[in-house]
Amino acid sequence: MAMVPLVTSEMDPAPAPTSTPVAPPAAHEYSMPAVPAAMGPLCTLCATGLRLSFLEDLLTPSSCTHCLGVLPHAESLARALAETVRDEVVAYDAPSFAVEIMLPRALAGRHTAYVERAGGYIAFEVRKEFAKRAVPVMEEVLGKRYSTEGPLRLLLAITHAETDAPIAARAAEARRPAKRGRFEGRGKADPPAASQPERLPFPPSTPTTLPIVGACTVRRDPIYLGGRYLKLERHISQTLWRIKGQRKTELSVAECVSFGVADMTQCDAEIGFLSAGREDADVRMLGTGRPFVLEVRNARKVDGIDPVALAERANKEFAGKVQVSRMCVVNKDEVKQVKEGEELKAKEYTCLVWAPGVDQRKVDEINALPAFQIDQHTPLRVLHRRPNLMRPKTVHWIRMTPLNDGQGPLYRVTLETQAGAYIKEFIMGDTGRTRPSLSSLLGTHADILELDVTKVALEWPPARTADASTA
Ligand SMILES: [Zn+2]
Repeated sequence: MAMVPLVTSEMDPAPAPTSTPVAPPAAHEYSMPAVPAAMGPLCTLCATGLRLSFLEDLLTPSSCTHCLGVLPHAESLARALAETVRDEVVAYDAPSFAVEIMLPRALAGRHTAYVERAGGYIAFEVRKEFAKRAVPVMEEVLGKRYSTEGPLRLLLAITHAETDAPIAARAAEARRPAKRGRFEGRGKADPPAASQPERLPFPPSTPTTLPIVGACTVRRDPIYLGGRYLKLERHISQTLWRIKGQRKTELSVAECVSFGVADMTQCDAEIGFLSAGREDADVRMLGTGRPFVLEVRNARKVDGIDPVALAERANKEFAGKVQVSRMCVVNKDEVKQVKEGEELKAKEYTCLVWAPGVDQRKVDEINALPAFQIDQHTPLRVLHRRPNLMRPKTVHWIRMTPLNDGQGPLYRVTLETQAGAYIKEFIMGDTGRTRPSLSSLLGTHADILELDVTKVALEWPPARTADASTA
Protein backbone atom coordinates (compact mmCIF):
# COMPACT_ATOMS: atom_id res chain seq x y z
CA MET A 1 0.00 0.00 0.00
CA ALA A 2 1.14 3.55 -0.68
CA MET A 3 2.70 5.50 2.12
CA VAL A 4 1.47 9.00 2.91
CA PRO A 5 4.24 11.51 2.07
CA LEU A 6 5.92 12.87 5.14
CA VAL A 7 6.16 16.60 5.73
CA THR A 8 9.28 18.11 7.25
CA SER A 9 8.90 20.37 10.24
CA GLU A 10 8.97 24.15 9.77
CA MET A 11 11.55 24.28 12.55
CA ASP A 12 13.96 22.21 10.49
CA PRO A 13 17.06 24.43 10.15
CA ALA A 14 17.81 23.08 6.69
CA PRO A 15 14.61 22.13 4.90
CA ALA A 16 15.25 19.70 2.10
CA PRO A 17 14.60 21.07 -1.39
CA THR A 18 11.43 19.59 -2.87
CA SER A 19 13.38 18.06 -5.74
CA THR A 20 15.40 15.70 -3.50
CA PRO A 21 14.03 12.80 -1.40
CA VAL A 22 13.09 13.67 2.14
CA ALA A 23 15.17 12.03 4.85
CA PRO A 24 13.17 9.50 6.93
CA PRO A 25 11.95 10.96 10.21
CA ALA A 26 12.93 9.63 13.62
CA ALA A 27 10.98 6.57 14.73
CA HIS A 28 8.85 8.44 17.28
CA GLU A 29 7.23 10.47 14.52
CA TYR A 30 5.53 7.25 13.43
CA SER A 31 3.64 6.90 16.70
CA MET A 32 0.29 7.62 15.11
CA PRO A 33 -0.12 5.84 11.80
CA ALA A 34 -1.16 8.19 9.04
CA VAL A 35 -3.36 5.59 7.37
CA PRO A 36 -4.90 2.96 9.65
CA ALA A 37 -5.68 0.83 6.61
CA ALA A 38 -1.93 0.26 6.19
CA MET A 39 -2.08 -1.99 9.28
CA GLY A 40 -3.25 -5.45 10.06
CA PRO A 41 -5.09 -7.61 10.08
CA LEU A 42 -4.18 -8.13 13.71
CA CYS A 43 -5.63 -10.31 16.43
CA THR A 44 -7.20 -8.44 19.34
CA LEU A 45 -4.36 -9.45 21.67
CA CYS A 46 -1.62 -8.09 19.42
CA ALA A 47 -3.58 -4.92 18.63
CA THR A 48 -3.96 -4.23 22.35
CA GLY A 49 -0.43 -5.30 23.21
CA LEU A 50 1.14 -3.16 20.50
CA ARG A 51 -1.02 -0.19 21.56
CA LEU A 52 -1.92 0.67 17.99
CA SER A 53 -5.07 2.45 16.86
CA PHE A 54 -7.10 0.43 14.39
CA LEU A 55 -10.24 0.36 12.47
CA GLU A 56 -12.58 -2.20 14.04
CA ASP A 57 -12.77 -4.28 10.88
CA LEU A 58 -9.00 -4.91 10.91
CA LEU A 59 -9.29 -6.83 14.15
CA THR A 60 -9.71 -10.51 13.39
CA PRO A 61 -10.46 -13.47 15.59
CA SER A 62 -7.71 -15.68 14.15
CA SER A 63 -5.41 -14.41 11.41
CA CYS A 64 -2.70 -11.99 12.52
CA THR A 65 0.16 -10.32 10.69
CA HIS A 66 2.02 -9.88 13.99
CA CYS A 67 1.76 -13.26 15.81
CA LEU A 68 0.74 -15.37 12.77
CA GLY A 69 -2.20 -16.69 14.80
CA VAL A 70 -0.09 -18.06 17.67
CA LEU A 71 -1.95 -16.02 20.29
CA PRO A 72 -5.57 -16.45 19.18
CA HIS A 73 -4.86 -20.19 18.94
CA ALA A 74 -2.65 -20.41 22.04
CA GLU A 75 -4.90 -22.82 23.93
CA SER A 76 -5.33 -25.28 21.06
CA LEU A 77 -1.63 -25.12 20.15
CA ALA A 78 -0.67 -25.72 23.79
CA ARG A 79 -3.02 -28.68 23.95
CA ALA A 80 -1.57 -30.13 20.73
CA LEU A 81 2.00 -29.65 22.03
CA ALA A 82 1.20 -31.29 25.35
CA GLU A 83 -0.58 -34.19 23.67
CA THR A 84 2.43 -34.73 21.40
CA VAL A 85 4.71 -35.36 24.40
CA ARG A 86 2.18 -36.73 26.90
CA ASP A 87 3.04 -40.44 26.50
CA GLU A 88 6.71 -39.64 26.91
CA VAL A 89 6.17 -37.32 29.87
CA VAL A 90 4.07 -39.73 31.91
CA ALA A 91 6.98 -42.22 31.88
CA TYR A 92 8.90 -39.87 34.21
CA ASP A 93 8.24 -39.83 37.94
CA ALA A 94 9.01 -36.09 37.98
CA PRO A 95 6.37 -33.89 39.63
CA SER A 96 7.01 -30.79 37.52
CA PHE A 97 8.22 -29.59 34.15
CA ALA A 98 9.90 -26.56 32.66
CA VAL A 99 9.20 -25.66 29.09
CA GLU A 100 11.01 -23.85 26.33
CA ILE A 101 8.95 -23.04 23.28
CA MET A 102 10.39 -22.17 19.91
CA LEU A 103 7.99 -19.96 18.02
CA PRO A 104 7.90 -19.46 14.23
CA ARG A 105 11.06 -17.71 13.13
CA ALA A 106 9.20 -14.99 11.25
CA LEU A 107 7.81 -13.53 14.48
CA ALA A 108 10.97 -11.56 15.27
CA GLY A 109 10.98 -9.64 11.99
CA ARG A 110 7.25 -8.96 12.18
CA HIS A 111 7.51 -7.71 15.74
CA THR A 112 10.34 -5.37 14.75
CA ALA A 113 8.27 -3.99 11.89
CA TYR A 114 5.34 -3.22 14.20
CA VAL A 115 7.49 -1.83 16.99
CA GLU A 116 9.14 0.57 14.56
CA ARG A 117 5.76 1.62 13.27
CA ALA A 118 4.43 2.07 16.80
CA GLY A 119 7.34 4.32 17.71
CA GLY A 120 10.00 2.39 19.56
CA TYR A 121 10.21 -0.08 22.41
CA ILE A 122 7.14 -2.10 23.34
CA ALA A 123 7.13 -4.56 26.22
CA PHE A 124 4.51 -6.79 24.60
CA GLU A 125 6.04 -10.17 23.69
CA VAL A 126 4.24 -12.97 21.87
CA ARG A 127 6.39 -15.51 23.76
CA LYS A 128 5.26 -14.29 27.19
CA GLU A 129 1.64 -13.93 26.14
CA PHE A 130 1.69 -17.43 24.69
CA ALA A 131 3.26 -18.90 27.84
CA LYS A 132 0.59 -17.26 30.02
CA ARG A 133 -2.14 -19.03 28.07
CA ALA A 134 -0.31 -22.27 27.32
CA VAL A 135 1.02 -23.26 30.74
CA PRO A 136 -2.34 -23.94 32.45
CA VAL A 137 -3.46 -26.04 29.47
CA MET A 138 -0.21 -28.01 29.47
CA GLU A 139 -0.39 -28.60 33.22
CA GLU A 140 -3.88 -30.00 32.77
CA VAL A 141 -2.99 -32.28 29.85
CA LEU A 142 0.28 -33.54 31.37
CA GLY A 143 -1.00 -33.85 34.93
CA LYS A 144 2.19 -32.20 36.21
CA ARG A 145 3.02 -28.82 37.68
CA TYR A 146 4.95 -26.16 35.77
CA SER A 147 8.21 -25.04 37.41
CA THR A 148 11.19 -23.18 35.99
CA GLU A 149 13.30 -25.59 38.09
CA GLY A 150 12.30 -28.60 35.99
CA PRO A 151 13.36 -31.34 36.53
CA LEU A 152 11.66 -32.23 33.25
CA ARG A 153 12.61 -29.99 30.35
CA LEU A 154 10.21 -29.83 27.45
CA LEU A 155 11.62 -28.32 24.28
CA LEU A 156 8.63 -27.65 22.07
CA ALA A 157 8.44 -26.06 18.65
CA ILE A 158 5.65 -24.27 16.86
CA THR A 159 6.34 -23.91 13.16
CA HIS A 160 4.72 -21.98 10.36
CA ALA A 161 5.84 -23.40 7.01
CA GLU A 162 4.48 -20.46 5.02
CA THR A 163 6.87 -17.99 6.66
CA ASP A 164 9.61 -20.40 7.84
CA ALA A 165 10.46 -21.55 4.31
CA PRO A 166 11.54 -18.16 2.91
CA ILE A 167 13.69 -17.52 6.01
CA ALA A 168 15.36 -20.93 5.71
CA ALA A 169 16.00 -20.32 2.01
CA ARG A 170 17.50 -16.93 2.77
CA ALA A 171 19.76 -18.41 5.47
CA ALA A 172 20.91 -21.15 3.07
CA GLU A 173 21.65 -18.51 0.44
CA ALA A 174 23.71 -16.51 2.93
CA ARG A 175 25.75 -19.59 3.86
CA ARG A 176 26.57 -20.41 0.24
CA PRO A 177 30.02 -19.08 -0.67
CA ALA A 178 29.73 -16.18 -3.10
CA LYS A 179 31.08 -16.76 -6.60
CA ARG A 180 34.11 -14.59 -7.12
CA GLY A 181 36.02 -13.49 -10.16
CA ARG A 182 39.54 -14.76 -10.44
CA PHE A 183 41.20 -11.57 -9.26
CA GLU A 184 38.47 -10.39 -6.97
CA GLY A 185 39.49 -9.79 -3.39
CA ARG A 186 37.56 -10.95 -0.38
CA GLY A 187 34.71 -8.86 0.98
CA LYS A 188 33.56 -7.40 -2.33
CA ALA A 189 30.44 -9.49 -2.71
CA ASP A 190 29.85 -10.80 0.79
CA PRO A 191 26.30 -12.05 1.24
CA PRO A 192 24.19 -10.40 3.94
CA ALA A 193 24.72 -12.02 7.32
CA ALA A 194 22.08 -14.66 7.97
CA SER A 195 21.68 -13.42 11.54
CA GLN A 196 20.41 -10.02 10.44
CA PRO A 197 16.61 -9.88 10.63
CA GLU A 198 14.99 -9.38 7.29
CA ARG A 199 13.57 -5.92 6.62
CA LEU A 200 9.91 -6.54 6.07
CA PRO A 201 7.62 -4.36 4.00
CA PHE A 202 4.91 -2.76 6.07
CA PRO A 203 2.41 -4.13 6.83
CA PRO A 204 3.87 -7.68 6.76
CA SER A 205 2.06 -10.15 4.50
CA THR A 206 -1.19 -11.63 5.77
CA PRO A 207 -0.71 -15.33 6.59
CA THR A 208 -3.05 -17.77 4.89
CA THR A 209 -2.24 -20.76 7.13
CA LEU A 210 -2.02 -21.32 10.87
CA PRO A 211 1.07 -22.41 12.84
CA ILE A 212 1.37 -26.08 13.74
CA VAL A 213 3.27 -28.27 16.22
CA GLY A 214 6.92 -28.89 15.26
CA ALA A 215 9.64 -31.09 16.76
CA CYS A 216 9.30 -31.74 20.50
CA THR A 217 11.75 -33.33 22.93
CA VAL A 218 11.58 -34.25 26.61
CA ARG A 219 14.64 -34.43 28.88
CA ARG A 220 15.13 -34.75 32.59
CA ASP A 221 17.91 -32.92 34.41
CA PRO A 222 20.69 -35.36 35.29
CA ILE A 223 20.92 -36.84 38.74
CA TYR A 224 24.27 -37.71 40.27
CA LEU A 225 25.37 -40.82 42.12
CA GLY A 226 28.60 -40.61 44.09
CA GLY A 227 30.79 -43.16 45.81
CA ARG A 228 34.31 -44.57 46.00
CA TYR A 229 35.74 -47.42 44.00
CA LEU A 230 38.48 -49.95 44.56
CA LYS A 231 40.22 -51.60 41.63
CA LEU A 232 41.63 -54.86 42.89
CA GLU A 233 42.85 -56.24 39.57
CA ARG A 234 45.12 -54.80 36.89
CA HIS A 235 44.19 -54.42 33.22
CA ILE A 236 40.94 -52.63 33.88
CA SER A 237 40.77 -49.22 32.25
CA GLN A 238 39.01 -46.39 34.02
CA THR A 239 36.59 -45.74 31.18
CA LEU A 240 35.79 -47.78 28.10
CA TRP A 241 39.08 -47.93 26.17
CA ARG A 242 38.77 -48.63 22.49
CA ILE A 243 41.25 -48.28 19.67
CA LYS A 244 39.89 -48.62 16.14
CA GLY A 245 36.69 -50.14 17.48
CA GLN A 246 38.54 -52.84 19.46
CA ARG A 247 38.25 -52.97 23.25
CA LYS A 248 41.67 -52.76 24.88
CA THR A 249 40.50 -54.02 28.25
CA GLU A 250 37.78 -56.50 29.09
CA LEU A 251 36.32 -54.26 31.78
CA SER A 252 36.27 -50.60 32.72
CA VAL A 253 35.72 -49.08 36.15
CA ALA A 254 32.96 -46.88 34.73
CA GLU A 255 31.05 -49.92 33.48
CA CYS A 256 31.45 -51.74 36.79
CA VAL A 257 30.37 -48.90 39.08
CA SER A 258 27.37 -48.02 36.88
CA PHE A 259 26.19 -51.63 36.79
CA GLY A 260 22.41 -51.80 37.23
CA VAL A 261 21.90 -48.02 37.18
CA ALA A 262 20.20 -47.93 33.77
CA ASP A 263 17.96 -50.80 34.86
CA MET A 264 16.89 -49.10 38.04
CA THR A 265 16.42 -45.57 36.68
CA GLN A 266 15.52 -46.25 33.04
CA CYS A 267 18.03 -43.57 32.10
CA ASP A 268 19.75 -43.07 28.74
CA ALA A 269 22.27 -45.79 27.92
CA GLU A 270 25.25 -43.47 28.14
CA ILE A 271 26.06 -42.69 31.78
CA GLY A 272 28.63 -39.99 32.52
CA PHE A 273 31.63 -40.90 34.69
CA LEU A 274 33.82 -38.49 36.62
CA SER A 275 36.47 -39.25 39.22
CA ALA A 276 38.98 -37.48 41.46
CA GLY A 277 41.96 -38.17 39.21
CA ARG A 278 42.61 -41.42 37.40
CA GLU A 279 44.96 -44.36 37.31
CA ASP A 280 46.25 -46.27 34.30
CA ALA A 281 44.70 -49.59 33.33
CA ASP A 282 47.65 -51.53 34.81
CA VAL A 283 47.50 -49.68 38.14
CA ARG A 284 45.35 -50.89 41.03
CA MET A 285 43.30 -48.55 43.22
CA LEU A 286 43.50 -49.78 46.81
CA GLY A 287 43.08 -48.36 50.33
CA THR A 288 39.75 -46.59 50.77
CA GLY A 289 39.30 -46.15 47.04
CA ARG A 290 38.87 -43.18 44.75
CA PRO A 291 35.82 -40.85 44.71
CA PHE A 292 33.69 -41.00 41.57
CA VAL A 293 30.45 -39.54 40.25
CA LEU A 294 27.96 -41.02 37.81
CA GLU A 295 25.90 -38.56 35.79
CA VAL A 296 22.61 -40.34 35.23
CA ARG A 297 21.00 -38.68 32.23
CA ASN A 298 17.32 -38.51 31.48
CA ALA A 299 16.25 -40.92 34.23
CA ARG A 300 12.58 -41.87 34.08
CA LYS A 301 12.51 -43.35 37.57
CA VAL A 302 14.22 -41.48 40.39
CA ASP A 303 11.94 -42.04 43.37
CA GLY A 304 12.97 -45.65 43.82
CA ILE A 305 16.73 -45.20 43.52
CA ASP A 306 18.48 -47.36 46.10
CA PRO A 307 22.22 -46.57 46.02
CA VAL A 308 23.05 -49.25 48.58
CA ALA A 309 21.33 -51.92 46.50
CA LEU A 310 23.14 -50.66 43.39
CA ALA A 311 26.52 -50.96 45.13
CA GLU A 312 25.66 -54.46 46.34
CA ARG A 313 24.72 -55.60 42.85
CA ALA A 314 27.92 -54.19 41.35
CA ASN A 315 30.06 -55.70 44.11
CA LYS A 316 28.54 -59.12 43.59
CA GLU A 317 28.92 -58.94 39.82
CA PHE A 318 32.55 -57.77 39.87
CA ALA A 319 33.79 -59.44 43.06
CA GLY A 320 37.60 -59.40 43.23
CA LYS A 321 37.83 -56.86 40.41
CA VAL A 322 36.05 -53.60 41.18
CA GLN A 323 34.24 -52.74 44.41
CA VAL A 324 32.01 -49.80 45.23
CA SER A 325 31.49 -48.20 48.63
CA ARG A 326 29.55 -45.25 50.07
CA MET A 327 27.26 -45.00 47.04
CA CYS A 328 24.69 -42.21 47.46
CA VAL A 329 22.79 -39.55 45.55
CA VAL A 330 24.83 -36.33 45.49
CA ASN A 331 24.03 -32.80 44.39
CA LYS A 332 25.79 -30.51 41.91
CA ASP A 333 27.83 -28.70 44.58
CA GLU A 334 29.11 -32.02 45.85
CA VAL A 335 30.05 -32.99 42.29
CA LYS A 336 32.17 -29.83 42.13
CA GLN A 337 34.10 -30.98 45.20
CA VAL A 338 35.27 -34.03 43.26
CA LYS A 339 36.53 -31.90 40.39
CA GLU A 340 38.31 -29.55 42.78
CA GLY A 341 39.65 -32.47 44.82
CA GLU A 342 41.29 -33.84 41.72
CA GLU A 343 43.49 -30.74 41.62
CA LEU A 344 44.18 -30.34 45.31
CA LYS A 345 44.36 -33.57 47.21
CA ALA A 346 47.51 -35.58 47.87
CA LYS A 347 47.83 -39.17 46.65
CA GLU A 348 49.71 -42.06 48.18
CA TYR A 349 51.28 -44.80 46.08
CA THR A 350 53.13 -48.02 46.50
CA CYS A 351 55.24 -49.51 43.75
CA LEU A 352 57.51 -52.40 42.99
CA VAL A 353 60.79 -51.01 41.68
CA TRP A 354 63.76 -52.75 40.10
CA ALA A 355 66.95 -50.76 40.75
CA PRO A 356 70.37 -52.42 40.32
CA GLY A 357 73.53 -51.26 42.08
CA VAL A 358 71.92 -49.44 45.00
CA ASP A 359 73.52 -49.82 48.42
CA GLN A 360 71.82 -49.41 51.79
CA ARG A 361 73.48 -46.01 52.32
CA LYS A 362 71.66 -44.67 49.22
CA VAL A 363 68.40 -46.18 50.42
CA ASP A 364 68.83 -44.46 53.80
CA GLU A 365 69.54 -41.14 52.05
CA ILE A 366 66.35 -41.41 50.01
CA ASN A 367 64.30 -42.34 53.08
CA ALA A 368 65.67 -39.32 54.96
CA LEU A 369 64.69 -36.82 52.25
CA PRO A 370 62.41 -33.99 53.34
CA ALA A 371 59.61 -32.94 50.97
CA PHE A 372 61.03 -31.90 47.61
CA GLN A 373 59.89 -30.54 44.29
CA ILE A 374 60.10 -32.32 40.97
CA ASP A 375 59.72 -30.67 37.57
CA GLN A 376 57.66 -32.80 35.23
CA HIS A 377 57.32 -32.24 31.52
CA THR A 378 54.28 -33.92 29.99
CA PRO A 379 55.27 -37.61 29.72
CA LEU A 380 56.28 -38.87 26.29
CA ARG A 381 53.61 -41.57 26.43
CA VAL A 382 50.75 -39.04 26.67
CA LEU A 383 52.35 -36.28 24.59
CA HIS A 384 50.22 -37.19 21.57
CA ARG A 385 47.06 -36.15 23.41
CA ARG A 386 48.20 -33.58 26.00
CA PRO A 387 49.98 -30.24 25.57
CA ASN A 388 53.69 -30.21 26.31
CA LEU A 389 53.88 -28.36 29.63
CA MET A 390 56.23 -28.29 32.59
CA ARG A 391 54.49 -28.85 35.92
CA PRO A 392 56.26 -28.57 39.26
CA LYS A 393 54.95 -31.18 41.71
CA THR A 394 55.81 -31.90 45.33
CA VAL A 395 56.89 -35.29 46.65
CA HIS A 396 55.86 -35.11 50.31
CA TRP A 397 57.78 -38.20 51.41
CA ILE A 398 59.26 -41.37 49.96
CA ARG A 399 60.27 -44.70 51.57
CA MET A 400 62.28 -47.50 49.95
CA THR A 401 62.27 -51.00 51.44
CA PRO A 402 64.53 -53.70 49.97
CA LEU A 403 62.74 -56.95 49.14
CA ASN A 404 65.53 -59.46 49.67
CA ASP A 405 63.73 -62.54 48.49
CA GLY A 406 66.25 -63.55 45.86
CA GLN A 407 64.43 -62.05 42.89
CA GLY A 408 67.04 -59.39 42.19
CA PRO A 409 67.41 -55.75 43.19
CA LEU A 410 63.77 -55.24 44.07
CA TYR A 411 62.35 -52.53 46.30
CA ARG A 412 58.95 -51.64 47.66
CA VAL A 413 58.69 -47.87 47.25
CA THR A 414 55.89 -45.93 48.92
CA LEU A 415 55.45 -42.22 48.46
CA GLU A 416 52.98 -39.40 48.80
CA THR A 417 52.79 -36.69 46.15
CA GLN A 418 50.79 -33.68 45.22
CA ALA A 419 47.78 -34.47 43.01
CA GLY A 420 48.57 -34.81 39.32
CA ALA A 421 52.14 -36.09 39.59
CA TYR A 422 53.11 -38.81 37.11
CA ILE A 423 54.54 -41.61 39.26
CA LYS A 424 55.92 -43.93 36.58
CA GLU A 425 57.86 -41.02 35.14
CA PHE A 426 59.08 -39.94 38.58
CA ILE A 427 60.53 -43.42 39.16
CA MET A 428 62.09 -43.91 35.72
CA GLY A 429 62.91 -40.31 34.74
CA ASP A 430 61.19 -40.30 31.32
CA THR A 431 64.49 -39.64 29.48
CA GLY A 432 65.17 -36.64 31.68
CA ARG A 433 61.72 -35.08 31.30
CA THR A 434 61.10 -35.51 35.05
CA ARG A 435 63.84 -34.02 37.27
CA PRO A 436 64.82 -35.18 39.74
CA SER A 437 63.56 -38.76 39.43
CA LEU A 438 64.18 -41.76 41.65
CA SER A 439 66.58 -42.95 38.94
CA SER A 440 68.58 -39.73 39.06
CA LEU A 441 68.53 -39.61 42.87
CA LEU A 442 69.85 -43.19 43.05
CA GLY A 443 72.29 -42.70 40.19
CA THR A 444 71.03 -45.82 38.40
CA HIS A 445 68.21 -46.80 36.10
CA ALA A 446 65.19 -47.60 38.24
CA ASP A 447 62.32 -49.41 36.55
CA ILE A 448 58.75 -49.61 37.81
CA LEU A 449 57.21 -53.08 37.68
CA GLU A 450 53.93 -52.54 39.50
CA LEU A 451 52.07 -49.52 40.77
CA ASP A 452 49.14 -49.18 43.15
CA VAL A 453 47.36 -46.09 44.36
CA THR A 454 46.88 -46.62 48.09
CA LYS A 455 45.26 -43.37 49.18
CA VAL A 456 43.33 -40.50 47.60
CA ALA A 457 43.18 -37.94 50.39
CA LEU A 458 39.75 -36.56 49.53
CA GLU A 459 37.08 -37.29 52.14
CA TRP A 460 34.14 -37.77 49.79
CA PRO A 461 31.21 -38.33 49.34
CA PRO A 462 30.07 -36.32 52.37
CA ALA A 463 28.76 -38.41 55.26
CA ARG A 464 24.97 -38.71 55.30
CA THR A 465 22.35 -39.63 57.79
CA ALA A 466 20.33 -42.67 56.78
CA ASP A 467 17.19 -40.73 55.86
CA ALA A 468 19.12 -38.17 53.75
CA SER A 469 20.87 -40.75 51.59
CA THR A 470 18.38 -40.47 48.76
CA ALA A 471 17.51 -36.79 49.17
ZN1 LIG B 1 -1.66 -11.60 17.03
